Amino acid sequence: MSADRNQAPARSQWGAGLEPLLERLDAEGEAMAARTEVWSRINSGSHELAGLERMRALLCDAFSALPGALTVEPLAPSERVAADGALIAIEHAPSIRVVVRRDAPIKVALTGHYDTVFPASHPFQAPWREGDVLRGPGTADMKGGLSLMLAALQAFERLPGANRVGYEVLMNPDEEIGSLGSAPLLADLGKRAHVGMTYEPALADGALVDARKGSGNFSLVFRGRSAHAGRAFSDGRNAIMAAAEAALSLHQLNGRREGVTFNVAAIDGGSPVNVVPDLAVLRFNVRAPDAAAAAWAQGEIQRIAEAAGAREGLSAHLHGGLTRPPKPVTARQARIISWTRAAGKALGLDLKFQPSGGVCEGNNLAAAGCPNVDTLGPCGGDIHSDKEFALIPSFAERAKLSFLLLAGFERGVFDIADLRA
Ligand SMILES: [Zn+2]
Repeated sequence: MSADRNQAPARSQWGAGLEPLLERLDAEGEAMAARTEVWSRINSGSHELAGLERMRALLCDAFSALPGALTVEPLAPSERVAADGALIAIEHAPSIRVVVRRDAPIKVALTGHYDTVFPASHPFQAPWREGDVLRGPGTADMKGGLSLMLAALQAFERLPGANRVGYEVLMNPDEEIGSLGSAPLLADLGKRAHVGMTYEPALADGALVDARKGSGNFSLVFRGRSAHAGRAFSDGRNAIMAAAEAALSLHQLNGRREGVTFNVAAIDGGSPVNVVPDLAVLRFNVRAPDAAAAAWAQGEIQRIAEAAGAREGLSAHLHGGLTRPPKPVTARQARIISWTRAAGKALGLDLKFQPSGGVCEGNNLAAAGCPNVDTLGPCGGDIHSDKEFALIPSFAERAKLSFLLLAGFERGVFDIADLRA
């Protein structure tokens, strides 16, 4: 059957001037992939401040092709509990913001991250091609996404009459370590924007993500009392045992509430075997599908921490929280998903959506009241591994998808008033 016959009437809803820009994006697919290769060669692991700076310079250069004002915005350090229980500051590279038509009636937030999970010491540092597959760090997650986002925005700027839609692009250096530094910027942007577009990769089969769980990382610091294991054993208060008991209590919460998971990941601390250990740091991750489940999980964690710290000679201090709130499919989320499917259909694509336990900046935007689609990047897979890849033909395809969404907001194919009602 002919896909063309189906897509022609749908595309006509977008009005005049669309086709040459779609053709142009088709022709630019190779350039989007080639730019991704260049960016992939630059190590920008979340803690690699020098590499992040080099990456930032290239992004500032590329995104200065857009008509708006580009600024580099410093982020406050975030806190982490060290293995010795002390709070240490984690420095973050700055974010990049591009504001185009600030006072336009329709405000779109486009977000992405320019960090990767790969430190400079990791062997996976350079991209290579295998036919239609581009492998390399960040090719899918998400330098490829940033590359196609820029192409879509440049095409949108050429759309006749493109001035009802204004947008802000926010590119962050800390997504892979939880967006703790950029969280205030994401929250602020999410409050101001009508709709969000985020560029995590789609799956290799083309599917996008709809519902996402919320996620939080916690550290529970136990301090007890050290004592000689032979001469004064009963004087000791064993912090490792307190951490182990709390770990069991947390683990036993699994299965108590639909979709909520508690992953006990590590216990730091301990002492020589002839000493009762006085320090332990218990680290765990929690995921929850909606706000009520997240509140329940938070309450259970608090209860376990308080019980653990209530014993004579032992203290327990809880750090962390559910810093990525859940992103369930609300009515407004369902609407933007249906728009994305409609834009896909106009391109001859039958886009599927599926839930994910993974989290991203889309969680932050949604929590700030900004409905969003967060997997508008290229199709790819094996992310966070040394087999990470993006599918080269998907660069043009997904740039056209973003372009059709933006053009749909501009031309009223998708009525933005439906989202904030
Ligand atoms: Zn990512």
